[in-house]
Amino acid sequence: MRKIAVIGGGTMGNGIAHVFAQGGYDVALIDMDEGALDRARATVRKNLDRQVKKGLVDATAVDAILGRIAGFTAVGDGVSDADLIVEAVPEKAELKYKLFKELDASAPASAILASNTSSISITEIAARTDRPDRVIGMHFMNPVPVMKLVEVIRGLATSDETTNAVMELSRELGKTPVEVNDFPGFVSNRVLMPMINEAVFALMEGVATAEAIDTVMKLGMNHPLGPLALADLIGLDTCLNILEVLHSQLGDDRYRPCPLLRKYVAAGWLGRKTGRGFHSYER
Ligand code: NAD
Repeated sequence: MRKIAVIGGGTMGNGIAHVFAQGGYDVALIDMDEGALDRARATVRKNLDRQVKKGLVDATAVDAILGRIAGFTAVGDGVSDADLIVEAVPEKAELKYKLFKELDASAPASAILASNTSSISITEIAARTDRPDRVIGMHFMNPVPVMKLVEVIRGLATSDETTNAVMELSRELGKTPVEVNDFPGFVSNRVLMPMINEAVFALMEGVATAEAIDTVMKLGMNHPLGPLALADLIGLDTCLNILEVLHSQLGDDRYRPCPLLRKYVAAGWLGRKTGRGFHSYER
């Protein structure tokens, strides 16, 4: 694999483009919003500069890494010669189904189609294509350049060949892939989101302030970030979408999204990306 297309240049897409470009791959970064492409490029540069300061990247390599990322606003333009496509558009099932149908039509027949979805069924996404054996979950963690894990999700029809190729590629990027089966929320969000949701309930019920809840979990459980700060990093809209999938797909009320989370999302308080969530951030 040499050419990678990344669809969606938001919180995750810019990081995914970053690690592939840093790994020497040519990357087509596709976002329908021109402004998102500009922000993605600026974020990749800022994060590369941070890696240079930490001695993780050679300063002379920065321009070459950025030069390997080409931006596109139309899916058809960016995927026609891609070996692997990683989708990172918002966590909305209908949006992903439509996009995978389009990708199946415009990407080379041999290309692997991967989704960075946090919770939507890979089997259902794959069923929208004529290549379900070459559809897989490649779930990077946020922030992508820093986090080691890639959760590799096998849909019902995903082939061994596809799984092995994605596991190997993840290792080449310096990541540690873990293979899991397709089930709502996979492992990561099946375990993480109920904890975040419970923290929001605790806040709503006045058990403690957001700062206090996060401090208890940081100092008491040795978590590097408290659950509310982590929700702000992930994006509160993304957290809500994942909880909706867990709730509807598993049919259990223990996954019902906290009303306070809904209220924040309705207000447009989405966390770091909007400057305000459970905590406030300078933008
Ligand atoms: P985001 O809202 O930050 O970015 C999504 C981007 O997709 C936006 O720039 C938007 O303009 C673009 N987009 C929307 N529709 C498009 C289309 N049809 N074609 C091209 N571009 C389109 O979202 P995000 O947080 O980066 O999440 C993306 C995916 O990654 C979701 O499936 C999410 O569940 C998953 N994920 C998120 C996190 C996280 O911490 N945020 C972690 C792991 C996985």
